[in-house]
Amino acid sequence: MPIFHTASDEEIKRAVTTDVYFVRTEKILKAKKLDKISVVADVTTSGLPRNWSWGVLCGVEEETKLFEGVPVDVYSMLEGTIFKSEDYRGFRVPVMMIEGSYGAFCLYETPSLGLICQASGVATRAARIRKAAGEKTLLSFGIRRMHPALSPMLDRATYIGGFDGVSSLSGARAIGAEPTGTMPHALIIMLGDQVKAWKAFDQTIEKNVPRVALVDTYFDEKIEAIMAAKALGKRLAGIRLDTPSSRRGNFAEIVREVRWELDLRGFEHVKIYVSGGLNEVTVKALSVAGAEGFGVGTSVSNAPTIDFAMDIVEKRGKPCAKRGKIGGKKQVWRCQKCLIDLLQSSEKSHPPCPKCGSETIPMLLPLVKNGRVVAKLPRPRDIREYVLRQLEKVQLEEC
Ligand SMILES: [Zn+2]
Repeated sequence: MPIFHTASDEEIKRAVTTDVYFVRTEKILKAKKLDKISVVADVTTSGLPRNWSWGVLCGVEEETKLFEGVPVDVYSMLEGTIFKSEDYRGFRVPVMMIEGSYGAFCLYETPSLGLICQASGVATRAARIRKAAGEKTLLSFGIRRMHPALSPMLDRATYIGGFDGVSSLSGARAIGAEPTGTMPHALIIMLGDQVKAWKAFDQTIEKNVPRVALVDTYFDEKIEAIMAAKALGKRLAGIRLDTPSSRRGNFAEIVREVRWELDLRGFEHVKIYVSGGLNEVTVKALSVAGAEGFGVGTSVSNAPTIDFAMDIVEKRGKPCAKRGKIGGKKQVWRCQKCLIDLLQSSEKSHPPCPKCGSETIPMLLPLVKNGRVVAKLPRPRDIREYVLRQLEKVQLEEC
């Protein structure tokens, strides 16, 4: 038995994390010899959390691993695709589709949804914050608020959404990069003195790690920022303000004041990083005030999940969707210029963009064919680049 309350890879692959009603359904279908009936199931959402206008699909690589060896066909949008819940006419858009005998994948509905719902929520929030931050540095600091078993998934999704770096060792391994971080208050407290702590960091830590001094432990941010700049001089890459909420007042004003005082003393090279309770709204305001980088935690790691659902829409080649869902096997066609989707029956031919007339591309692409992985799985950095390219074409609604 594992010592932590987590399911192992092997248990997830065996669908031990599924809901019991699927186990019972499978049992009944087998008893009645109905388990081999071929179906098509769509994965859609009725809307995004908090009325967000778009989402970032994440977790597709793990879907591939889940369905590898399961005798079904899986089609999906690429990992990192920016999607809307509806096409331009308001029809619900599937992000993923499974085709095969229902008995073969009935148990996988629960784990399959779990893999994309949470990761897509995290990647979406991260992408929103990237949109708000423009070109500035975003670091993922949020794994401490979630179960440690999830840290690689959370940091990977955050990075894919457009963050520059992640703080956890396991997250860094998942994205194929070095972990990024500054220093905790604990270091300053243990060294007993801010200057001693910053100097100890400078003396001890590898030279390629940027020196970013935490400047809010005992004195005012402005005083400590100047102290750090004087102590480390040219070697000081930045300072971090993690001002406690009880002292914050107007955080943007504190950032402005620190920037001014550093510049006045010739420390223009020292960048200001901020952390603590940040989201897409505060990041934007602090960025305007002069912050160059942001450590963002809970708002991303605890991002609202995206409520994807899986529904059978075709049985033995005939449409059979339940109330509220639309039937038949479908394809989603996207205009890459307008970033709008057109949902069509898979039997209809390739349409032009209904808005600009340009070529559209099919979005549901084969991932797994009869249990064999047929898609090439891109590296996290390439998925992130794909997200950043699409982000140029979407807006952040006023929040
Ligand atoms: Zn178009």
